[in-house]
Amino acid sequence: MTSGERQQANGGQIPIQDTVNPACDQSNTKSGSDPHLRFPGDYKTDEVRKILSQVPDPEIPVVSIEELGILRDIIATQTGFEIVITPTYSGCPAVDQIQDDIRTALAAHQIQVTVTTRLAPAWTTDWMSDATRDKLRAYGIAPPQHGAETQAKVIQFAPKRVAAPAINLWADGPFGSKTVPCPQCGSADTTETSHFGSTACKALYKCLACLEPFDYFKPY
Ligand SMILES: [Zn+2]
Repeated sequence: MTSGERQQANGGQIPIQDTVNPACDQSNTKSGSDPHLRFPGDYKTDEVRKILSQVPDPEIPVVSIEELGILRDIIATQTGFEIVITPTYSGCPAVDQIQDDIRTALAAHQIQVTVTTRLAPAWTTDWMSDATRDKLRAYGIAPPQHGAETQAKVIQFAPKRVAAPAINLWADGPFGSKTVPCPQCGSADTTETSHFGSTACKALYKCLACLEPFDYFKPY
């Protein structure tokens, strides 16, 4: 006997305990008046996350708001979902666009949503995964270096031991905190030409080896 049959046989009074999708039972009763209206029970948080994982960052379309760490929380509420975001920095002009994109993406699935902004803890480039940094680099943006200050100290006191094949020059390599490797050719011979690039969270650099200008996503 399925949960639906059991529920029917018992007048819907016994709790549903097995794994037959209880969301279906809820939708059948709750949304009977409007078959297009969806309720939190119709979607699981993971499904909402999957939808939002397709929402690109407005300024760097090759990475999603989830990959950048802007998407902080997905909370099921009585009336839909609350989506919590933390902008890359306060005053980020892309925030309104991100909120609109989230609403649009979920509206396509008839999911009711409110978007709230959480400013503390402040967004940090450390929330970016290595895979996301790789995507930035492939897009031509030098990714923020992991914990630049700590890294510089580690390098300063590290024993002089060469382990060339194992070193990832980008993530934890021998470059100091001031050195930003070129995303095009990998040269460390680069210079900052403007502390503010195409957006305030990026600096403009130029590679002195291949002469290509590039954005550097500043760590903070
Ligand atoms: Zn270069």
